[in-house]
Amino acid sequence: MRIKKNDIVKMIAGKDRGKTGKVLRVLPKDRKAVVEGLNVVKKHTRPKREGEKGQRVEIPRGVTVSNMALVCPKCGKTSRIGYKTTGKIKVRICKKCGSEI
Ligand SMILES: [Zn+2]
Repeated sequence: MRIKKNDIVKMIAGKDRGKTGKVLRVLPKDRKAVVEGLNVVKKHTRPKREGEKGQRVEIPRGVTVSNMALVCPKCGKTSRIGYKTTGKIKVRICKKCGSEI
């Protein structure tokens, strides 16, 4: 997975195209990531007991990773991710400005 938690991503396809958000969680098995404020599903819960109110809960759903591009924190542009190995550590680099992400 190229996308990691706390990354800022921009949607490049799908219904949220053009929007940006922070990655809250990655779901490697589904190749999806949960992005703050994107693909939010509103769920209504019924009151379970008398005197309780029904609630609306907003649940962000996973978005397919191939629909998003990483926004580089250094240059602020959406960028392809490259990899660089320094010693034994593999780091992600921004292909536009070359800085580590
Ligand atoms: Zn960059």
